[in-house]
Amino acid sequence: MAAELDGGPRPDVGAQRAELGPLLGIALRPGESWYLIDSRWFKQWKKYVGFDSWDMYNVGEPNLFPGPIDNSGLFADPEIQTLKEHLIDELDYVLVPTEAWNKLVNWYGCVEGQQPIVRKVVEYGLFVKHCKVEVYLLELKLCENSDPTNVLTCHFSKADTIATIEKEMRQLFNIPSEKETRLWSRYMSNAYEQVSNLDSTVQDAGLYHGQVLLIEVKNEDGTWPRQSLPAKVSGFSYSCRESPFQSQPGICGLSNLGNTCFMNSALQCLSNTPPLTEYFLEDRYEAEINHDNPLGMRGEIAEAYAELIKQMWSGRHSHVAPRMFKTQVGRFAPQFSGYQQQDSQELLAFLLDGLHEDLNRVKKKPYLELKDANGRPDSVVAKEAWENHRLRNDSIIVDIFHGLFKSTLVCPKCSKVSVTFDPFCYLTLPLPLKKDRSMDVSLVFADLHRRPTQYRVVVPMMGAVSDLCEALSKLSKIPAENMVVTDVYNHRFHKIFQMDEGLSHIMPKDNIFVYEVCKSSEDGAECITLSVYFREKRIRQSSTSSGTVLCGQPLLISVPKHKLTLDHLYNVVLEQIGHYIKFPLTKEYSSVCLDSGICNGSSRGCEVEEMEHQDGDEGREKASETDSCQSEGCAHDLLGKEGQHHKKHLFTFSLVNSYGISEINSITTEGKLLKLNSYATLAIDLDPDTRKLLFDEQESQAFEKDESMLQSQKKKTTVALKDCIELFTTMETLGEHDPWYCPNCKKHQQATKKFDLWSLPRILVVHLKRFSYNRYWRDKLDTVVEFPIRDLSMSEFVCDPIADPYVYDLIAVSNHYGAMGVGHYTAYAKNKVNGRWYYFDDSSVSMASEDQIVTKAAYVLFYQRRDSKQHIAPSLPAESELASEECDGMDTN
Ligand SMILES: [Zn+2]
Repeated sequence: MAAELDGGPRPDVGAQRAELGPLLGIALRPGESWYLIDSRWFKQWKKYVGFDSWDMYNVGEPNLFPGPIDNSGLFADPEIQTLKEHLIDELDYVLVPTEAWNKLVNWYGCVEGQQPIVRKVVEYGLFVKHCKVEVYLLELKLCENSDPTNVLTCHFSKADTIATIEKEMRQLFNIPSEKETRLWSRYMSNAYEQVSNLDSTVQDAGLYHGQVLLIEVKNEDGTWPRQSLPAKVSGFSYSCRESPFQSQPGICGLSNLGNTCFMNSALQCLSNTPPLTEYFLEDRYEAEINHDNPLGMRGEIAEAYAELIKQMWSGRHSHVAPRMFKTQVGRFAPQFSGYQQQDSQELLAFLLDGLHEDLNRVKKKPYLELKDANGRPDSVVAKEAWENHRLRNDSIIVDIFHGLFKSTLVCPKCSKVSVTFDPFCYLTLPLPLKKDRSMDVSLVFADLHRRPTQYRVVVPMMGAVSDLCEALSKLSKIPAENMVVTDVYNHRFHKIFQMDEGLSHIMPKDNIFVYEVCKSSEDGAECITLSVYFREKRIRQSSTSSGTVLCGQPLLISVPKHKLTLDHLYNVVLEQIGHYIKFPLTKEYSSVCLDSGICNGSSRGCEVEEMEHQDGDEGREKASETDSCQSEGCAHDLLGKEGQHHKKHLFTFSLVNSYGISEINSITTEGKLLKLNSYATLAIDLDPDTRKLLFDEQESQAFEKDESMLQSQKKKTTVALKDCIELFTTMETLGEHDPWYCPNCKKHQQATKKFDLWSLPRILVVHLKRFSYNRYWRDKLDTVVEFPIRDLSMSEFVCDPIADPYVYDLIAVSNHYGAMGVGHYTAYAKNKVNGRWYYFDDSSVSMASEDQIVTKAAYVLFYQRRDSKQHIAPSLPAESELASEECDGMDTN
C-alpha cells in the first residue's frame, strides 16, 4: 500500500533492532506464513539500524535509509511478479515470519504495486517430520474437458487440497456451483487418470510441476462426457485392478503415490533390465533369499520387488500402484519415505545394494585382509581383489552389475605408487563444467547523445572483469581500456570493479553498468574520474530522516585535472544529463531567468552551445546569435555564467562517501582547482521542484537493447559420453583438504590420483553427475550428453590388456526434467520381448522412437553388454511412425 517513501512512523533504530531481532530467530511451524525479502534490501536495513555490531559506525545514517521494501530483484517478470528460478535462501532472499514482516511494512512500506511474497510452512517426512518454507509453489496447468486447448497456468502450495484446486477451476472457467464436476490428470500422450479424493493434498495426490489438470462438467442428461470413451478407461484408478484386456508384459505404468516419480523412473529402468527381471520371473530368487543377513532387509525388499515385477510382467495390468514396495523401501530407508522430491539415482543405489544383501548367497562373510599391490602385476592383484569381493559378495546383483576399477595413487614426495582394485555397481561420470556464461550488462556511453544500451556478452566462467570488457568492446566498439565496470544498487555504486577481479564475484542478479570514461582528454591532458550521485532534497523533515535521499542513476565523469573547478564540473555534469532535461522551461520557472540571453532554437543545441560559452578561457565558441531566445525562459539562463554567481544553479555539489553520505570535510580548493582523488564521490543535490520540472524521468531511465540481447541466455552445449568417461579417467591432484596418507612418508600428502576401468559388468549403469553444489552455487547442468543407442565400445577405457571387447547397447534411461528439487522423472526403456522403445511417465506409457531418447534430461543410463557371439542387434523398422501412437492396452482416450 504505502507508496510513500517514509512508510509509517518508525521507532528509532535501536528499538527496531530490539523488536525484530527475536522474531528473526523463531522456529518454523506448519501452516504459518513467512515472507520473502530481497536480501539486498534486508542487508541495507541491517546496516541502517546497525543490526550487526560491525555496522554500528553509521547507525541511523540517513543515506543508508533503505527506503520502501523492494523485492523487484527476486522477480523473473516484474509484471506477473513470478519468482526467478534457483533463488537461494540467505544469498538472494531472507525469510521472515509474519510479525516481522508486518513491522517492516509499517515502518518502511513496500514499493508501489509490489505484492508481498508470502509462503506457507509445510511439513514433510513420514517418520521424522521436518518443516520448511515452500518458497517455490507448484505450477499446474488447468483446462476444461470441453476446451482442452485453453490452458491456464496457476500456482499452488503442496499443502493445498484437491478441493482448493477444484474451487479455483470452477471460478476460472465460470462453472456454476450446481453443476457436478470431476477432475482428471492428463499425462503425455493423452492418458488420463481421475483425481477423485478431494481431501488429499497436492503432495499426496502426487501432482508434479507442470501437471495438466482437466475439469469435466456433467452433461444435462446426467451422463459424463468422458463416459463415451472406451470401457477400459473406467478401470483407471489409483488401485491396481484386474483388467479384462491383455496388455504387453512389461509395458506397465506405475501410479504416482505422491512425488514418487523418482522411484517409478528407477523401477522402470530395473524392470527393463532383462537378466534381472528373468531371475525374478523364473523364481530363482526364492532359493537365494537371505533372511538373516544383518546388512540386508530380511529379504523383504527382494520379496516386495519380486511381487511388483511379477505384476508388471503379467500382461494383465496397464499400470499398477507400487504401494507395497514403497512401504518396504520407506521402512528400510526413511529418507525415501517422505513426499519430498528425491533423486532417482540415490534410490537406484539403495535398491541395488538392498537387493544385493537380501539375495547374497554368502551366509557368513569371511574376514579378509587387504593386501597392497606391492609391485605385483595388475592382473594378479585384480584377480585377487575380485575373488575377495566375491567371497563376501555373491548375488545376482554382483553377477549382473558389478565391475572392477583400478585406482592409482602416487606420492609427490617419495614417488610411492599405491595400486588398488575396487568393485563398483555404477559409474558416476563428471560432466565437463560450463566454460562460459552469458551476462547482461548496460553500457553507459561517454557520448551523451547515445542512450545506455543493454548487451548480452559471453564470458569465461572463471574469467576476470577485463574479459567482460573485452567481450563488450567487440560488440560496442568502445575500447576496453576506457571501461569501468560497476554494480549499481539503490542509486549508488555498490561496487566499482578492478580489471583483475574475478567474474565469479558477479552474481546473475547484480545490476552491472559499464561506463565509458576517458583516461586523457583530446589534447592529452590527464583526466580524473569522479563518481556522481543524485540526491533529492526533502521537503518534510523528521527526526529520523535527513535532508536528502539518493535518486536516479549514478554517473562516472571524466574531467581533465587542470580544469577541475566547480564551474567546469557543473558544466560537465549538465552536459551529461542534458539529454533528459526538459526544454523549454515552464513559465513558473522563468523567475530564475534573471537576464535574457541568446541561444539557438533547439533545446539540446542551446544547452551544448552554452556549455562551450561556459568553458571560460579556452575554446569559447559563440552560439548562433541569429536565433533569439524564447521569451519566457531559457536553459542557459539557469546555467550561471562565470562571474555571475548571483544566478541560480540547477543544483549544488557536496563531497560524499560511497553511500552518498556527506563527508565532514567539504571540498577543498587549491586556488580555483579542486583537490579530489580519482573515484571521489560527489553528490548533486536537487530540490524536488526542480527535479520534477526539469527532469524527463522517462528519458532518464530509457535504454536501448543491443541485438546481442536476442540471443538465448543459455548456450546449448553438447558433449560426447566418451568425453565424460575420459574426464573420469583423467589424473587429478588431490585437494588440500582431501590428502592421502602415504604409508611410506607416514604422513598426509597431496597425491596424484587416477582411475582406470579394469573389468566391466553385463549391465553398465552410468550416472551423469548433473547436479553440482557449493556454498554459493547450486546448479543443474543442462548439457546434452550425446550417448550412443547402440555400439558403445568401452574397450579403449579398459586397462586389462587381455579383456574381451566390450560393446554395449542402451536398454533404459532415467530422465530428470526441470530444476533441482522441483523436477519430474520419467524413463525410456526397451521392452525385452518386442525390442521396441517405450516412454514411461508414471502410470502412462507410450511408444517412443530412438531419436527421442538423447536429451538434456538423460540422467542415468543402462547399457547391456553384447555377448561376443551375438550379432549386431537388428534395428527395428519404422519405429518413428509409431512414435506418437498409443500402445495396446493403455488407458487412454
Ligand atoms: Zn610418500
